[in-house]
Amino acid sequence: MSNPLEKIKSAVRGLRAYTLSPERASVKLNQNESPWDASEAIKRETLRRMGGRAWNRYPDFVPAALHEKLAAFAGWKSEGVLAGNGSNELIQALLMVTVGEGRRVLISEPTFALYRQVATVLGGEVLSVPLDAGLQFDVAALLDSIRTNDPDVTIICSPNNPTGCRMSDGALETLLAAARGLVVVDEAYFEFSGETVVPLLERHPNLAVFRTFSKAMALAALRVGYLLAAPELAREVGKALLPYNLNAFSQTAAEVSVEMYDGELAPVVRHIVAERERLFEELRRVPGLAPVASRANFMVVRSTVEPKRVFDELLRRDILIRDVSGYPMLADYFRVSVGTPRENDLLIAGLKEILG
Ligand code: PMP
Repeated sequence: MSNPLEKIKSAVRGLRAYTLSPERASVKLNQNESPWDASEAIKRETLRRMGGRAWNRYPDFVPAALHEKLAAFAGWKSEGVLAGNGSNELIQALLMVTVGEGRRVLISEPTFALYRQVATVLGGEVLSVPLDAGLQFDVAALLDSIRTNDPDVTIICSPNNPTGCRMSDGALETLLAAARGLVVVDEAYFEFSGETVVPLLERHPNLAVFRTFSKAMALAALRVGYLLAAPELAREVGKALLPYNLNAFSQTAAEVSVEMYDGELAPVVRHIVAERERLFEELRRVPGLAPVASRANFMVVRSTVEPKRVFDELLRRDILIRDVSGYPMLADYFRVSVGTPRENDLLIAGLKEILG
């Protein structure tokens, strides 16, 4: 009998699966989630609306009410909004309608692992430009690759997971102007940077922006993301989505969260940003650690103690972080999400012991 695995595309066989270590701890700083749960007000209003809705009926074919709220929230037109089952689904959908054999996808690495994975599964070729030595975007090298290789899609994660750097709007505009392909900006963490590239959509029909409810919006369990792009482009990406991709519960919770953002979520974001700055300053003073300034709700930290050992020692103290030492350029780094003040204090105390 032949080996059925021979039927798997060789590029896929060569990939390492995107996984997450299964450890659990009470201080969870490994997935860049909000350390505070969605508020009682948001939960109560979501449950109230769901209680009054028929559960035997499909959700709307197009979640128009959510699209309109997202459009107002983001400052873009609702025909150019597409909601999905997490932003992951929309990243996959955009790549599905653009990538196949002979297509090229340009990314800057280290970055979120999913881009390389999906582009490879779809048969595309991944071109990678390293961050510069300071772990910032190498805009000149990206520009050079765009001019030389003419990628069909360029993906910029900004702020970048896992390093936290943000590409300036000016730099992004040089890429947008040079690119004949699409330029995709993953703004999963934009709330923590206080900046967005959405105003550039009007002038750049080749730009698409991804966002998520899994981080600042504190709804990771419900899987909601959205795409912002020119209406014509959003319509094409929508062709790769399954009908009713977003369930009614998640749709409702997302609507409520957007409606209550100013009162319930914006103060939490400000608190997380303040904690990020405090954590950065504290870690900077720990001999053997060098945190990298971040525009997101996490940061990478260079460590003289091997990252795997830092991970294990923190886990023994019931603190879970992310060992990113397997990423390109990050052999000496671990990543921590910003937690509550108490969680950050525990992290700082644990690291002082481990490095001490
Ligand atoms: N983009 C980036 C940069 C991320 O870090 C993550 C989550 N780790 C995602 C997208 C996925 O978001 P979602 O939960 O909306 O699928």
